[in-house]
Amino acid sequence: MNNNVSVLVVEDEPEILELISTLLRLDGLDVMCATNGEEGLRAFFQRRPDIAILDIGLPGMSGIDLCGRIREVSEVPVIFLSAMGDEPDRVRGLRAGADDYIVKPFGADELKARVASVLRRAAMPAVGTERSDFTDGELIIDHSAHTVRVRGVPVSLTPLEYRMLSVLSGHRGQVLSQDRLLDLVWGVDAVEAAPESVRLCVSHLRHKIEANPRRPRLVETVRGFGYRYAAAA
Ligand code: CA
Repeated sequence: MNNNVSVLVVEDEPEILELISTLLRLDGLDVMCATNGEEGLRAFFQRRPDIAILDIGLPGMSGIDLCGRIREVSEVPVIFLSAMGDEPDRVRGLRAGADDYIVKPFGADELKARVASVLRRAAMPAVGTERSDFTDGELIIDHSAHTVRVRGVPVSLTPLEYRMLSVLSGHRGQVLSQDRLLDLVWGVDAVEAAPESVRLCVSHLRHKIEANPRRPRLVETVRGFGYRYAAAA
């Protein structure tokens, strides 16, 4: 019944990872595993699962941060896993955009029921569907296929450039400062990102999407403030 539904499970405890993936495979899901947030994010971008199950307490990037990164580009259902009684975590998790929450230890039936329930909700129109596509006559971003076309021509962007473009176009007409862009595009990695990262990423992006990168019309520089995605005339 769940054929062709793919799930990403990110969990650093091997026994729990094994348990979850076995249960979900038995249920007919296509399971991909990762043991930390960075690996999970990579798997997400490469394989675009239909649902993600994220442990909150992960080494490095936390499940909450990972969810935030996923939410920048996708509305797939996210279920958090957490140790028992982590009340502040639960609130943070739901604020971060999770759809549901499972407290460890959990039973097989509970896991299956929650997965089935978020998938059911996701299948309903207007709830949990992919973020709507962006288009302004010059640029088309298809968020479900993860593709960008400029003036009819497909362009190949790095995940970072894609995130930058998604964030800027998602705030069309609004000026975003370097710091804001660092937070929105780099997320948890913003602390380690060099201040010139924003400028470099915008510059690379312009070379791929602007008709004339020296006179950008899509991603404008607002001197002293930051950058703005301008609607094409
Ligand atoms: Ca953990």
